[in-house]
Amino acid sequence: MDERCPQCKSEKITEGKIFNQPDYVAPRAYFRPGGLRTFALLGVNIRIENRFFSCIKCGFMWAKINTAQLIRVLNESGTQQIKAKLQLDEE
Ligand SMILES: [Zn+2]
Repeated sequence: MDERCPQCKSEKITEGKIFNQPDYVAPRAYFRPGGLRTFALLGVNIRIENRFFSCIKCGFMWAKINTAQLIRVLNESGTQQIKAKLQLDEE
C-alpha cells in the first residue's frame, strides 16, 4: 500500500477498520460499482477487506479492492457508457 495520501500526498496516514457500532467491527462489507445495467443484481458485489487508511492532514480515506473482480463485474454487468469510459474490452 502506498505510504502517501492519494489526494494530498501527505505521509501522515493511519490504518484502521470500519465499525458499524462503537464496539462492533463490520462483519462483511461489499463494494458495488456504479454504472451497472438497471437489473444487474447477481454477482455484482465485491467483498472488501476491512482495512482502510486515512490521512490526518486532509481527511481523505481509502481502501484497496480486488481489481480482477471489479473488472469482471463491470465487463459482465456494466453499461456501455461505463465500459467506454473505463476502456474495458467488450466480450
Ligand atoms: Zn491527505
